[in-house]
Amino acid sequence: MIEIIVDWCKGCDICIHRCPVDALEKSEELNKRGVYPPKLKEENDCTHCRLCELLCPDFAITVTTEEGEDDDKKKKSKLILGGIVNEV
Ligand code: SF4
Ligand code: SF4
Repeated sequence: MIEIIVDWCKGCDICIHRCPVDALEKSEELNKRGVYPPKLKEENDCTHCRLCELLCPDFAITVTTEEGEDDDKKKKSKLILGGIVNEV
């Protein structure tokens, strides 16, 4: 699950541009800072790699996984320092 504290977002779009599976897009509603925060695309291949959480300069994103959720995806991807996602 991806939680976004929308009013903390400053709209830099780093998360959107760096997501390895292009799972994020701008939302349609302005936040309190006057920018469009990201949201997960309705159809997405998010692997919960946590790259967006790690890169967000304003700590606006938290990625959590429930036990059993996306087990196959988690096995396939592993975040390596530097933001490279490798199959393992
Ligand atoms: S990286 Fe953080 S501050 Fe930048 S657009 Fe994404 S949520 Fe907003
Ligand atoms: S957790 Fe990874 S795959 Fe999911 S939206 Fe963030 S960067 Fe993209």
